[in-house]
Amino acid sequence: MNSIESLVRPNIRALCPYSTARDEYEGKLGIFLDANESPYPTGWNRYPDPHQKALKEQVAALKGVPAECIFLGNGSDEAIDLCFRIFCTPGEDNAIAIAPSYGMYAVAADINDIGMRQVPLGTDFSLPAEELLAAADAHTKLLFLCSPNNPSGNAFEPAELEALIRRFPGIVVVDEAYADFSAKGSLRERLPELPNLIIFQTLSKAYGLAGLRLGMAFASSYIIRLMSMVKYPYNINQSTQELVSRALQTPIADRVEETVAQRARVAAALPAFRCVKRVYPSDANFLLVQVDDADTLYTHLLADGIIVRNRSRVPGCAGCLRITIGLPSENDQLLQSLSAYEKGDIHR
Ligand code: PMP
Repeated sequence: MNSIESLVRPNIRALCPYSTARDEYEGKLGIFLDANESPYPTGWNRYPDPHQKALKEQVAALKGVPAECIFLGNGSDEAIDLCFRIFCTPGEDNAIAIAPSYGMYAVAADINDIGMRQVPLGTDFSLPAEELLAAADAHTKLLFLCSPNNPSGNAFEPAELEALIRRFPGIVVVDEAYADFSAKGSLRERLPELPNLIIFQTLSKAYGLAGLRLGMAFASSYIIRLMSMVKYPYNINQSTQELVSRALQTPIADRVEETVAQRARVAAALPAFRCVKRVYPSDANFLLVQVDDADTLYTHLLADGIIVRNRSRVPGCAGCLRITIGLPSENDQLLQSLSAYEKGDIHR
């Protein structure tokens, strides 16, 4: 058994996965009497490809990762849950995550009855590599890192991440949901060197396809085979496969460039407001902003029809709102609403 295999739950190692009717034959077929589908064409009367072969080829070309190293899920949230189900025995194993970070790591751990060890980020949200290593024990199977991190917005140095991945005794997930907005890029090309690495990306952010639900995981073909065995057979529906395939033909560079420019513009404008105490540097499509009274400002913005994320009760984010970068006109409205707030024209 290699060291990655030894991290897999014994029942998953021994799993005989469900095989769909169409797994048994490859080639041109005309008459489908194998899957108890309706023969009447509604547009969706056939099951979708459970292996998403065509879409994976497209993602492989786009991301420079071989198709057998790609998992496609119903959002990254599916991939998060699969990691727990593949690697962690409920009531026995544990996982580690940086804190503050994306909330679903801890929720998925709770759902799966896996202990979650939260390790606070260092000064200025830096990567606490030694503390993360110290938190691991013989039952630690997973480490969740997020870069750029939600909600702090900063990306970690790729070399720092790689050094930690090499030293960590379990699987390391690096969630790169926001990597398209960061100059620090992705660890994708380091995958062949790092067998314990799983990278998450999503089409919900820079690609503008949150409504279609498509998350991607990149890892060794061994780990991807496990994820494919454990997922529901038809986890990506036909419409999503077709609509994503079409949407991927539209380049995202212009939209990403505008968002990054708007991020700089909003970040430069915010410190002029008295209520703003600190704007954290961001490599993502949002800004974490510390203000003097987060609840009152949040309520004021809501009354103006602007919803932001109140993170002020999250440990490490006292007094902070997380503000997504919108269209230029929406960012104008945000700044106007802040001006009104400063002038005392506030909604309570
Ligand atoms: N990862 C991070 C870091 C996120 O912030 C989010 C959404 N806020 C997700 C994953 C969710 O991605 P998806 O829409 O693909 O489930």
